[in-house]
This record gives sequence, C-alpha cells and structure tokens, in this order.
Amino acid sequence: MTGPLAKYRRITIKIGSALLVDRSGRLRADWLAGLAQDVAGLKAAGREIVIVSSGAIALGRSLLGLSALSLTLEQSQAAASAGQIALSQAWAEALGQHGIVTGQILITPNITEERRYYLNARTTIQTLLGLGAIPIINENDSVATAEIRYGDNDRLSARVATMIEADLLVLLSDVDGLYTAPPARDPDARHLPVVEAITPAIEAMAGGAASHLSRGGMTTKIEAGKIATQAGTAMIIAKGTENHPLARLIEGGQHTLFEPATTRAQSRKRWIMGTLAIAGTVRVDAGAARALSLGKSLLPVGVTQITGDFERGDTIAVLGPDGQEIARGLVSFDSEDARLVIGKHSEAVIELLGSGNRGAMVHRDNLVLTGARGDTETKPHLEADHEPG
Ligand code: GLU
Repeated sequence: MTGPLAKYRRITIKIGSALLVDRSGRLRADWLAGLAQDVAGLKAAGREIVIVSSGAIALGRSLLGLSALSLTLEQSQAAASAGQIALSQAWAEALGQHGIVTGQILITPNITEERRYYLNARTTIQTLLGLGAIPIINENDSVATAEIRYGDNDRLSARVATMIEADLLVLLSDVDGLYTAPPARDPDARHLPVVEAITPAIEAMAGGAASHLSRGGMTTKIEAGKIATQAGTAMIIAKGTENHPLARLIEGGQHTLFEPATTRAQSRKRWIMGTLAIAGTVRVDAGAARALSLGKSLLPVGVTQITGDFERGDTIAVLGPDGQEIARGLVSFDSEDARLVIGKHSEAVIELLGSGNRGAMVHRDNLVLTGARGDTETKPHLEADHEPG
C-alpha cells in the first residue's frame, strides 16, 4: 500500500452524518457500499479498522417522521434510538458484503474517561479486532444526558482512537481539511496540507467566521486533533462526500494531516506517571523484578505482598523485593482478586477467577519502570510464567 495511509496500522475512521444520510433522511447506500469496499481493501492490506459512525439521529428522524427543523432533546434521543438500529444494520450489510463481521459499541463519556470502563471497552474493541471484526461505534445518544455527552463524534472519535492507541484518526466530512481562513468567504484562504502542531494560530483559523458552513464543525475537529495528537495519534481531515472516499485519499486526495505531538508510548507513560494517587502497592520477588526490567508483564506468581484497596484499572506502585519502588502501572485485578491469586501460577489463577482472568496482574503495556532496574547484564533466569500473556 502506498499513499498517505501507508504507514499507519491501526486506523479509526469517523464518518459524519452528512456523508451517510441524504437531505431527505435516506441512507446513501451506494456511497456506503463504496466506502465498505475501501475499508475491506484496507483490512486486506493488514490494517485494523475501527469505525465511528454518526447518522443515527439523521436516520431516526425520518424513520419516525420527525420533520421539525430542530428537535427537542427527547425527540432527538428517540430518533437516535430508532436510527441506531438502521445504522448498525446498514453497516453490517455493507461490510458483510465483503465477509466482514461488525460489532456495535455505544459509548458515553464515562466510558472513555473512567479507567475501569475504559479498560473494558478497550478490551472489547481489541478482542473484536483480534477476531477480524470491525467495531462500529457511536455515542449512546438515547441515554446520554445534556451535561454528560460528547454531542459530536469528532471528539468522541478522538477519544476512541486514543483509547485503543490507534496510529491514525481519519475524519471524513464535507471539508477537505483546514484552511488559513474560511474558504467560502476569503478568496486568499490557503489549504494547509500539514499541521505540525496545534498552536493558537491554528485554533484561530478553525474559529473563523460564524456564517461559514463548516465552521462549528472545524472547531470540534481541531479539539479532536488536540486530543489525538497529544496522545501520539496522527489525524487526517479529508473530504468524504464523493464515492470511494478512502480510495481517493489513498490516491493522494487533498487533506490536512495533523502530526502527533508525541509517541503513544510516551503519552501512556506520562498518563500513568501523572496519576496523583497510588491506590495500592504490590511487592514482587527478584525473578519478577528482573522480568519487569526486561519489559515483561507482571504475573501473579511473582507477587509476594499487596497493600491497599484498589479497583481494576487503578494505578499501583510495584515494589522490588527490598521494598523500593521499581515501576508503576495500571492493575488488571481489583485488590480482592489480586490477594486471592498472589503467588499463583496462571493455571491456578484461571481456576480461581475464571478464564476471563488469564492475564497479567499488570500488563507490560500498562507498566512504566520508575526506580532501580534489575540487573540486565547477567542473563536472568526467567520462569516460563513471566512471559507476557
Ligand atoms: N451521534 C450522533 C448521531 O449518530 C452524531 C453526532 C455528530 O454528528 O457528531 O446521529
């Protein structure tokens, strides 16, 4: 694969309502068929694809015969409820044509912002991807309250992309990128192919004249860009209205690329280290300490002592055999379960907690080494159990 998407492996694609649904509230089925073919092509080229799809409210309002220009909150929630079924069905059929199974996930902000939910949602999405399916995600608009909702899928898709550590977020909408000024009003407006950093000047460009159509839209896209790039995920804004929008993009269609401000590993590390309250500690034996220093996961078998009350997803400190902190990480068990499996081999952990709990106490992806490292000069003897799960 060549072109602007070539270097990205895990890609989140956000589809705006105006692309999927025409002005009379009908699904743009031909367009969707073309997009599904593009997505199948990306998948065949080894890319993992997650789709954030708008369109539930737009589809639902026509299904329910809601013709008013602006809906009440209750009406739009009802529209989202009816429309989401049609939307999911449309995706299942379009991607099903290419033998691809879809999974629906509806998200509210607490899911992307609270770690316990976050870890669960992330695991579900990763499991779907591992099984070759494509997750189709939207906001759970029919239950989201006015205060607790994203309201726009630009920012939602950015949170999803960073949650699953996507390499790239593609926002497909009716604009082909960022301009120095609203192009409809300013003949001198210049298209920006690359934005290296989202500076106040860039934000000002997005916040231009209120009358311009894409204007409110551009503000949330820049917000999405900030969320994505600060977590190490690149973002592309591209026009998706024509058929085969991804194929067009791959062939070099006009777009704006927002470069990541950091690497994803650095961002995760910052996030874990930025946790103010450590919810508890686990002390580990010398073998586990060495395994951690080599970048392995922390398995229950290497844990000798646990302090504190913590929930799955909390940040804990990992102490070496001498009680010195050697790492911090997000724990995969709550403290009750952790105490149950302390010192146990993986088979015993499964027996005690069920097969859903095969994994590490702290997975290596969620671990940051902080203190004295184990001796990496001498080749350590590692138990088979210390191999990451
Ligand atoms: N979640 C809304 C829907 O599916 C769309 C939000 C947006 O357009 O950004 O209708």
